[in-house]
This record gives sequence, C-alpha cells and structure tokens, in this order.
Amino acid sequence: MSDKNGFGWLNVLLVDDSQAILEYVSTVLSELYKIENTYSAASVKEAMQVFRQSNSINLIFLDLNMPNEDGIQLLEQLKNHQYSGYVVIMSGVSTRIISSVEQLAQKYGLNYIGTLLKPIHETDFASIIERVGQSYSKRECTESLKTYEIVRAIKNNDFEVLYQPQIDLNTRSFFGVEALCRMKHPRLGIVSPDRFIGKAEESELIIHITLAVYKQAFVDWKKWRRLGLDIKLSLNASPISLQQPEFADFIFGLLDSHQMQASRLCIEVTESVLASDQPQELMNLSRLSMRGVDIALDDFGQENSTIERMQKLPLTYLKLDKSYFLDNPESLNRMSLINSTLSLANELKLTTIAEGVENAEILSLVTKLGCDTAQGYHIGRPMAASKILSWERDWNNLT
Ligand code: C2E
Ligand code: CA
Ligand code: CA
Repeated sequence: MSDKNGFGWLNVLLVDDSQAILEYVSTVLSELYKIENTYSAASVKEAMQVFRQSNSINLIFLDLNMPNEDGIQLLEQLKNHQYSGYVVIMSGVSTRIISSVEQLAQKYGLNYIGTLLKPIHETDFASIIERVGQSYSKRECTESLKTYEIVRAIKNNDFEVLYQPQIDLNTRSFFGVEALCRMKHPRLGIVSPDRFIGKAEESELIIHITLAVYKQAFVDWKKWRRLGLDIKLSLNASPISLQQPEFADFIFGLLDSHQMQASRLCIEVTESVLASDQPQELMNLSRLSMRGVDIALDDFGQENSTIERMQKLPLTYLKLDKSYFLDNPESLNRMSLINSTLSLANELKLTTIAEGVENAEILSLVTKLGCDTAQGYHIGRPMAASKILSWERDWNNLT
C-alpha cells in the first residue's frame, strides 16, 4: 500500500441533501482520519457530475433518502459506470429497508462496505474506515496489475528470474531448475507472476516478458555451466508466445549463442495449447522437439486434457499440478486420480514431475506412487540464480 497507515489514497464523495451532514462527515474524516480529498454533493445529479469529473473517487458515502432522485437510483448509476470503489450507506430509514438496499448494492456488484445509521456518531466511523483499509490491502495483494505497470516494467526491465530446483526421485539427485519470473514494482516491491502474467497474456505484452525471462535464464545457465553445473533449464511458454512464427528460431538462437545442448532445455506449455488448433503452435513445438528440446505439459489435471489431444503434441514430460498433492492427497479419490494419471503418462512414455511437494509426507507419497521427478518447497523454494550452487551443496549433504 502506498500509505500503509494513512488513508491519503482515498478520494471521497459525500452525497446528502443536508448541508449539516455533509459538513459533519467531512470534518470527522479530515480530523480523525486525515482524509482530505473529499467532495460533497447535495443531489444525485451533482454527485454524478463530480463522479465523472474527478474520475478517481474510490469511496462514496451516500444518503438513501433524498428529494428528486434517491440514493438507490445513484447505486444503479454507479453500477452502470462499473464503479469499483467502496460504498457506504448513510440513512435514517428503517433497518429493513436498509438491509434490502444492502442486498441490492451487492447484487449490482458494488463494493458495499457498511452503513452509518443516522444520527451518526464519530465512533461509528472507526469500523467502516478500518474495513476499507483491510479490504484495500487484501485487494492490493492479489489484484492484477494495470497494463501501464506492466509496460513500465518491460521498459525498465524490472523482471527478476528465480529458479526452483527439480530432483530425480529414484536417485534423489538434482537435475534441473524451472525459471519463474517476478516483477520488481516501484511501490509494491516483488510481485508474483499470478498478478501480471494473465494480464500480459491478454495482449502481446507477454511476448516481451518471455523475451526478458528467457534471455536472463540463458545467461544464468551459462554462468552455472562455467562453474561446473550442467543442469536442465525449464522455461514457461504462454500460448501467445508459441503462436509467434519466430518462436522456435528465437530459441535456436539462444541455444547457439549460449552453447547449450538442446537436451538441456525444456519448454513448459499449458493444457490450453492442447485445446487450440493453432498450426503455428504445433509447428514451433515440433521444430523444437525435432532439435531435441523437451516439451512438458504443465499443470496437468487442472483442465480436461484428452489422450487424443495429448498424442498430437510432441510431449516428453507431464507435470502433475500441485492441486493433486495439496489438501488431503491421501484420500482414496485423489490416490486413484494420481495413479491413473501416472499410468497414462507411462502409456504415453512421458516422464512425470510432481509439483507442489511441500513437505516430507508428499515427497514420500510421490516417491511411493512412482513419479519420476519432483519439485516443491520441501525440496527448494524458487531462489536467485546465485543461490543454486549452495542449495546443491546442502542438498547433496542431506541425501
Ligand atoms: P507454474 O508454472 O505452475 O509454477 C509453479 C508455481 O508453484 C510457482 O509459483 C512456484 O513458486 C509454486 N510452487 C512451487 N513449489 C510449491 C509448493 O511446494 N507448494 C506450493 N503451494 N506452491 C509451490 P509462481 O512462481 O508464483 O508462479 C506462478 C505461475 O506463474 C507459474 O505457475 C507459471 O504459470 C506462471 N509463470 C511464472 N513465470 C513465468 C514466465 O516466465 N512465463 C510465463 N508464461 N508464465 C510464468
Ligand atoms: Ca511451469
Ligand atoms: Ca505448474
């Protein structure tokens, strides 16, 4: 949050036909919570004018009972404008009416945060403002970044690549890493890919991220290689990147310039690639595979992959999604699901990777069930390239 302890980020709109209430609420907000950006409106019409002009209102205190248009009509207009800020209702009408209005606000998809019952007291504000703060920080931790933030990161190359170790379950030896990207955000610090990959995939921005991540990963691989570590590198590929006609050639260029053997590289694709009938994707994957690059099907088990579709792709690895192993993996249902997935992999001659090996129990379970390889927090968390060698030393000492 930009201003963790304060509410300076709030732009408030107060809507009430009583001048006295407008003044009272704005004084409380300013004196108790240092909220200074407050606009007042005495009618719905005025409120909508302010709303459109300011374009940054994110908290609205709204009186239900007003002459001419009432608060309910304002809620409807906010819905039509897809207002995503918070709504607080102020009212003296009966609690039954209030509760049906609250339901209406929620149905409209508005962020209804609470009600101030008239006559309003200073103390009533505390829980409302606290809830706004809590909801805001929760949203900030999970909400997708805005396009301009992604563009800025691409321009400044604000990406960092972390590596998560993968081990062979038969020998317990370290054989490879998966590259996972992070964004260094000027305000939020290190941001998880879940908050920008999906958004970047909506446009072609993902292509720039792929470029940055791949280039960095090859540089890091070459450094390890110089230090005597000859491991496999797994890279995630979005469908949009795979649809670029030059994708395979781009990779061949990287392999050549870093003197990496094709068999050291694995490209992870998701199940959505199976569903699409894009000839470009198939062409890229076939060219990569012909050169000896491995192709892994990532997050297997999240969507419905059919065997027929899987046979179409030049796959070599199958990554069992972490949802297989997290929460209650030893339930009978889950076990039979894992078993049938493993026999499918066996039939298709695919090497299996268990993801999400978070603890010793899951590690022994996936070993017992016959998975070939594994990765997860219990083995190693995603880490900076410079940490991989010391992680390997510790791992070898442990096993
Ligand atoms: P993924 O490819 O399925 O990557 C595995 C995710 O599981 C990673 O999350 C990893 O940190 C997390 N993980 C690893 N071990 C464990 C464990 O034991 N327990 C649990 N609960 N989680 C574990 P991360 O790094 O947040 O990445 C999330 C997703 O973002 C990735 O999922 C991948 O789909 C995407 N992603 C990351 N980097 C890139 C990239 O460079 N390009 C593209 N296209 N997507 C990327
Ligand atoms: Ca992956
Ligand atoms: Ca995965």
